Amino acid sequence: MLKGKAAIVTGSTSGIGLGIATALAAEGCKLMLNGFGDKAEIEKLRAGLAERHGVEVAYSPADMAKPAEIREMVAAAERRLGAVDILVNNAGIQFVAPIEEFPEEKWDQIIAINLSAAFHAIKAAVPGMARRRWGRIINIASAHGLVASERKAAYVAAKHGIVGLTKVVALDHANDGITCNAICPGWVLTPLVQKQIEARAKAEGLAVDKAKEELLKEKQPMLQFSTPEQIGALALFLCSDAAATITGTTHAIDGGWTAQ
Ligand code: NAD
Repeated sequence: MLKGKAAIVTGSTSGIGLGIATALAAEGCKLMLNGFGDKAEIEKLRAGLAERHGVEVAYSPADMAKPAEIREMVAAAERRLGAVDILVNNAGIQFVAPIEEFPEEKWDQIIAINLSAAFHAIKAAVPGMARRRWGRIINIASAHGLVASERKAAYVAAKHGIVGLTKVVALDHANDGITCNAICPGWVLTPLVQKQIEARAKAEGLAVDKAKEELLKEKQPMLQFSTPEQIGALALFLCSDAAATITGTTHAIDGGWTAQ
């Protein structure tokens, strides 16, 4: 379905980003991976995806907190892969604390990585998409882009912000063959969530499995995690011809979290 197309997926060395990158590669899409991690592990991941799916896979170590590195990542993808047809803004971090104790540097870092990075990447990639009259921009927001939870000021602000950014980009490029949509997952069991489960287990003196159950029960009526593969399948749908007129929307994949 995506043979000849090229995608950047930010934060694709782990979790949801890796699920999306894998789904795109399986459809023949060339890839620019991005994210942190062990150099040798990342190279194994890159080479494995390229070999399994017979597509070109590049890697950029760009730090999503640094606008110049984001611009360079987009330019490198255009040079290496010929274009950026699909941009998935996925890299994200979390920090949890009551507002009066929330460290300023954590606020700045979360806004930079979870929100401003998407602005910088879209700004750099959208002119090429408009020239070619085809583009798919997918922003990984969250259920926290639609509703709030306590102690997550920066994360909830950034995710609501990215939903707003999604709508504006959709309007700015409504007639250029470009769509821009947000995916809003509920709980997905990735390293980002594992850390929250372990913190909860420690704080409440619970076994990790019990803390996992409590985490789901608190927010998500369907007591099971979505998987990175399921998020990948939804992203793939948003890249398909069937989704050509879906733009400026949010797609909850959250086990009923935001139905309440
Ligand atoms: P994860 O921790 O498994 O992966 C995060 C990825 O982002 C990693 O590849 C990491 O290296 C990368 N990253 C972090 N900081 C970076 C930086 N400064 N520059 C470049 N890359 C950076 O987390 P995940 O759960 O897969 O999260 C991916 C996205 O999905 C995030 O935006 C997160 O907010 C969102 N999300 C996750 C869940 C969930 O339940 N896991 C739910 C809703 C939304």
